[in-house]
Amino acid sequence: MKKLLSLTLAASVLALAGCSTGATTAPAASSAPGASSAASQAPAGGGGLVGIAMPTKSSARWIADGDNLVKSLTAMGYTTDLQYAEDDIPAQVSQVENMITKGAKVLVIAAIDGTTLTDVLQKAADKGIKVVSYDRLIRNSKNVDFYAAFDNFAVGVAQAGSIVDSLDLKNKKGPFNVELFAGSPDDNNATFFFNGAMSILKPYIDNGVLVVQSGQTKFSDVATLRWDGTLAQARMENILASKYTAKRVDAVLAPYDGISRGIIAALKAVSYYSADKPGPVVTGQDAELPSVKSILAGEQTSTVFKDTRKLAAQVAKMLDQLLKGQTVEVNDTKTYENGVKVVPSYLLPVVSVTKDTVTKELVDTGYYTADQLK
Ligand code: BGC
Repeated sequence: MKKLLSLTLAASVLALAGCSTGATTAPAASSAPGASSAASQAPAGGGGLVGIAMPTKSSARWIADGDNLVKSLTAMGYTTDLQYAEDDIPAQVSQVENMITKGAKVLVIAAIDGTTLTDVLQKAADKGIKVVSYDRLIRNSKNVDFYAAFDNFAVGVAQAGSIVDSLDLKNKKGPFNVELFAGSPDDNNATFFFNGAMSILKPYIDNGVLVVQSGQTKFSDVATLRWDGTLAQARMENILASKYTAKRVDAVLAPYDGISRGIIAALKAVSYYSADKPGPVVTGQDAELPSVKSILAGEQTSTVFKDTRKLAAQVAKMLDQLLKGQTVEVNDTKTYENGVKVVPSYLLPVVSVTKDTVTKELVDTGYYTADQLK
């Protein structure tokens, strides 16, 4: 117990120290948001190959994550093998296998399906290769050494908070119509986001201030495989056609900007965003460029900004500590149970962004240039 306490204390001291140095403030590249230069970091005398497996290039955040990891690790003296699997699970497994064959010393993996890596991670463990689960928790494997992500529950709380604020639920009785969307059921984060959001929304649903006309309130009913915006659009079209011909939808909980854009397209197809039929509240996540523009245009209401520069910098630091046999900085040792063990984690805070705060949060921080938002 004493040992645990001092470990936790040491971790939080380190975490605090990390807060003041974690951010990189280099200008954004045009290919991905917040792509940062790590040139200011002095090589720390590391070495060896780091395998980085990312899920897909279809969302800009993963491109930024990959680029920022490579830059930070290169500046620390490591070589990297960065691979994207385009949401194809067997492709990701074989990419990780290749990294093991190439002699990677450590693997950083943002899984497509968090449950499909058990065998390949056993191969890695047999060779003494360490594994850091990046952003998405890898499940059902004891061979996950650390997890680094944003505070996923807080993402959902922020999304629901945007609905509460925009509809002024603290003062108004409604009833307001809301529809719920969740992310991919094979991504551990999706349930965290949904549970975080429902921790705020459920009391309003229970007392009738919010009404879900579709009746679909369970995660399994509202999940969106592979975070696919087209699937979400089709589901929203069905709901609008069956439940809202005579009613108005006032808010939509959308877990990710790509899904938000699909939902907005479905709404536009039945004349929302017109003078007599304004758009509902629509949430989001990732501060993707098209969604930030949509927020500025008064369509999407909010997004949750996760500064991928900070996550990449934190993970580079953790990898360096891991490979040097030092204590690895974590700030949560309770939350992320992966089916086999609790994975020691480092969680970063998130920020809710609305039209009023785009400049402060996304431009002033260098994540986007003002020109990119035009
Ligand atoms: C990430 C989110 C992202 C989603 C879809 C999740 O695992 O945490 O940032 O919106 O995947 O790519």
